[in-house]
Amino acid sequence: MASVLVVEDDQFVRSALIRHLTEASHTVRSVGTALEALREVAHFRFDVVILDLGLPDLDGAEALKMLRSITDVPVIIATARDDEAEIVRLLNDGADDYLTKPFSVEHLSARMAAVLRRSRAAGAEPPPRVLRVGALAIDPLRRQAELDGKRLDLTRREFDLLAFLAGRPGVVVPRKELLAEVWQQSYGDDQTIDVHLSWLRRKLGETAARPRYLHTLRGVGVKLEPPGPQQ
Ligand code: CA
Repeated sequence: MASVLVVEDDQFVRSALIRHLTEASHTVRSVGTALEALREVAHFRFDVVILDLGLPDLDGAEALKMLRSITDVPVIIATARDDEAEIVRLLNDGADDYLTKPFSVEHLSARMAAVLRRSRAAGAEPPPRVLRVGALAIDPLRRQAELDGKRLDLTRREFDLLAFLAGRPGVVVPRKELLAEVWQQSYGDDQTIDVHLSWLRRKLGETAARPRYLHTLRGVGVKLEPPGPQQ
């Protein structure tokens, strides 16, 4: 089982890939642009990235270069272009392998297995990291969170919010940063954050008046930290 990021703007190809990979027991996240891909790899750990070269925002070579500037994750490029010179150039630029579209599931699986074998043999990938804050355990890879060993039923946004804060325990995160990082918006009203925070609070079994993990500092930001001994 591997954690896979699929970067593909074609809805049809993307859903097919997600379906096949999920059926093969892989954990899949997917995005349709290079910039979203960069954001994903900055926030989550993947075992392999499948990168379509024909993305709407950035040229494939450019996208690969930017990915490489922030992560060593194995990248398999998927290209409709049967252009040997370009493929060789991309392999030299840090791609680990490539697939020419259309490709079969078997072909994809074989390439993935080979890439994963190599990266695991190289010991490049650390074991999955679980973020722990007090009795909270957050697994960004599996997108699961537990409190006191009990699984929390979180929406996608609640999970993102919790995981982001858990990555910086005890640090007051300004609302602006939350909007930018969790909502991916450069502006917005505080209400959006407040509403999600209150839902998340309820699931953590606490209230704004009697916070345990989630602390709102009016006009400043939000922080997540383990409850004190008196709580
Ligand atoms: Ca494309």
